[in-house]
Amino acid sequence: MYNPKSLKAEEFICHEEILETLDYAEKNKNNLELVDSIIEKAKLRKGLSHREASVLLACEDEERTNQLFDLAQQIKKDFYGNRIVMFAPLYLSNYCVNGCVYCPYHHQNKHIPRKKLSQDEIRREVIALQDMGHKRLAIEAGEDPVNNPIEYILESIKTIYDIKHKNGAIRRVNVNIAATTVENYRKLKEAGIGTYILFQETYHKESYEKLHPTGPKHNYAYHTEAMDRAMEGGIDDVGLGVLFGLELYKYEFAGLLMHAEHLEAVHGVGPHTISVPRIKRADDIDPTQFDNGISDEIFAKLCALIRVCVPYTGMIISTRESKEVREKVIRLGVSQISGASKTSVGGYSEEEPEEESSEQFDVSDKRTLDEVVRWLMGFGYIPSFCTACYREGRTGDRFMALCKNGQIQNCCHPNALMTLKEYLMDYASDETKKIGIELIKKEIENIPNPKVKEIALNNLEQIENGKRDFRF
Ligand code: SF4
Ligand code: SF4
Repeated sequence: MYNPKSLKAEEFICHEEILETLDYAEKNKNNLELVDSIIEKAKLRKGLSHREASVLLACEDEERTNQLFDLAQQIKKDFYGNRIVMFAPLYLSNYCVNGCVYCPYHHQNKHIPRKKLSQDEIRREVIALQDMGHKRLAIEAGEDPVNNPIEYILESIKTIYDIKHKNGAIRRVNVNIAATTVENYRKLKEAGIGTYILFQETYHKESYEKLHPTGPKHNYAYHTEAMDRAMEGGIDDVGLGVLFGLELYKYEFAGLLMHAEHLEAVHGVGPHTISVPRIKRADDIDPTQFDNGISDEIFAKLCALIRVCVPYTGMIISTRESKEVREKVIRLGVSQISGASKTSVGGYSEEEPEEESSEQFDVSDKRTLDEVVRWLMGFGYIPSFCTACYREGRTGDRFMALCKNGQIQNCCHPNALMTLKEYLMDYASDETKKIGIELIKKEIENIPNPKVKEIALNNLEQIENGKRDFRF
């Protein structure tokens, strides 16, 4: 019944195949010969199958786990260098008709304030985000055909792209809204979205139906097949994710990789990003009610494995995680992080009184963007505000092709330096600016192609003189 090429959820995320995979992994977790051969295969940097990956996840041998961490770090370095792409979420509306039991926006929650931003309010939020230095947003909205119809989302995207405040501009809007129709995905594509992000939450159908007791999201197949409809609607870049803590992490991990294999098998291109959220405290949600929470150690191992199994897929971590956890997993493979996030509706332009909080979840990392940027640079990372690929039409298989032949390295590095320079000139504190300028001076030497280096140097000088928006 398992068929990665099928368009039916229960065939490409086949429950029996996952159970057999977990059984195979459990039986082979001490088969060190097999484990070693899988690690050798992973070193080829062509990824691993869900079965191979599950064996590595089950294996508890310390030496092999350390080898896995070393390999993840090496792949991270080879594919992503020392760059970390920055983004921020923007909550448009928390009206929602679904009954997700782990989210405070669920329909039955009668005391959380319901808010929906008007276009003027969106303008204020976006200006506040631009004034921090953000260039890349992920918009979020609950599912509510009356309050948040697709027209509202499309109008909001247009508003966001149109705002030019001082030197600010939002250059890429990623969209995280409920599963929808091919026709609506086509409209989102036409509106110029970057990645369409939809978390599966859990791949375990039975649990999924219990965790989503009411509303359209209850339909497991419709939700799980959403990425296929998005791709049919012309969206090349899709972002997967599970909410770790809802179900057994080994099950979720196998399901997640099977979903990635399915997209590659059917559409010839895997997921653009994978997000790794863990369940968090929020309004009427207590994470201890869910018994599948994972430790920081397992979380780190999952991040390392994702890096090794799908080397070309970006990995995203949000401010749900603390500074300490973020520091650890950035090394292991995370390529994109949010900074200075507000998870409430309208939280950037106006501080909400605590008793009226509309937050979706508690933010663990509450630092300003300037602090996060400085912190990253302190470890030798280059915070990047790059959005070049999408704007150059390098999406989907074109993006993957560039990635796979190593060409992307000639773009990412200089783009990171140029966008960081813009940030330093326009938004950074004096201290951050000083550290950043030194970093750029050092990192410019690491552009291998002399022609690209010369252009980048010239562009950096022009940024100093007030010009903006250069890209390779
Ligand atoms: S997770 Fe999304 S769909 Fe579910 S209640 Fe929250 S906002 Fe609504
Ligand atoms: S050049 Fe493309 S892949 Fe590289 S950081 Fe920019 S947008 Fe991302």
